[in-house]
Amino acid sequence: MTAPLEPVAEDWSRALAIVAHPDDLEYGGAAAIARWTAQGKQVSYCLATSGEAGIDGIEPERCGPLREQEQRESAGIVGVDTVEFLGHPDGMLTYGLALRRDVARAVRRHRPDVVITGNYHDTWGPGMLNQADHIALGRSVLDGVRDAANRWVFRDLLEDGLEPWQASTVLVIGGELATSGVDTTATFDRGVASLEAHAEYLRGLGGHPMAEPREFLESIGRATGTRLGTTFAVAFEVIRF
Ligand SMILES: [Zn+2]
Repeated sequence: MTAPLEPVAEDWSRALAIVAHPDDLEYGGAAAIARWTAQGKQVSYCLATSGEAGIDGIEPERCGPLREQEQRESAGIVGVDTVEFLGHPDGMLTYGLALRRDVARAVRRHRPDVVITGNYHDTWGPGMLNQADHIALGRSVLDGVRDAANRWVFRDLLEDGLEPWQASTVLVIGGELATSGVDTTATFDRGVASLEAHAEYLRGLGGHPMAEPREFLESIGRATGTRLGTTFAVAFEVIRF
């Protein structure tokens, strides 16, 4: 993964980020979102789960609300005010019509130019297995974005007054097929702060490398920046509709 990256087009005004868990956007994407909100773009978050199964030492009933709160704080740090949770079960997301319908509903409600989501591929690269929820969610987002534009799919949405909407682009954070990048040099620190806002989650990770926000984000951000010709960057796969 050393091929040069093209800059991601920034000629849009509204984005909706749809991911599986609290923290999915903060392991890289948030620094790009901070850049975009600083440009005056509007970005909203929609999370399929509340991440309630994400901390071994805290039972889901207490963990879900706690992680929602951490996600809201984290979003605020990068200029995002709207954070919604779809209430699907953490750790048990399944690709299918229920998730696609919820994605289509969110896209029709928010009417974004760009949808941002996480890596839907089986791996993060050789030997680095992706997690089942990420794969199910990402694939449902790609299909749900298409469904949102089709009047005759999920007709109950029409009955709710939600007219078809075509987002022009899906930006997939990271992943092996990323060919584009966003310069996050100026907003890197806000990206770190947005991950640090997941304080209970990070505590729960113990000594894992992912529990060290600055070091973790620096190592990925610098390597990606080298491909874009900047100090720090986030890589995206760009899918056009
Ligand atoms: Zn996740």
